[in-house]
Amino acid sequence: MKCFKCAKGTMMPAIAEMAATIRAEEIPVRAEAMVCRNCGFQVMTDAQSDAYGIASAEAYRAKHGLLTTAELKRVRERLGMSFRAFANYLQVGEASPKRWEAGLVQDRAMDELIRLKSDLAKARKNVAQLEAHRLSAGVVRRPGMIHRNRLIES
Ligand SMILES: [Zn+2]
Repeated sequence: MKCFKCAKGTMMPAIAEMAATIRAEEIPVRAEAMVCRNCGFQVMTDAQSDAYGIASAEAYRAKHGLLTTAELKRVRERLGMSFRAFANYLQVGEASPKRWEAGLVQDRAMDELIRLKSDLAKARKNVAQLEAHRLSAGVVRRPGMIHRNRLIES
């Protein structure tokens, strides 16, 4: 295909260095685009644009330690849940899990919820943290101890 800009070069698929803006943050992304061999002008096909969307989300997630598209998919499949079942389980709209797997970045609180509700080790660690916190705050009833705080039944 001829270049739309210079009308001389040929547009060929190539890995291009781009920048995506996600949550007001600029993230460098390497993704395939059609690049003019003459002037360097870049365009993306629909498929390249979809792949770029996912690559951008993955770069952002990697930077911020969030579950990646593949991990989100693996979590849902490990639970043996459809998009709808997974959405119900997390109490979010049905479209949300589909969007995350298509490259919409889940927020950190949702990422945490997904981990807590799908990963037994993570859930156990959370319980241990809660118990440690309750002990250190002196809110757990322990026989023979004087409590500085009002007691809360466990
Ligand atoms: Zn060109």
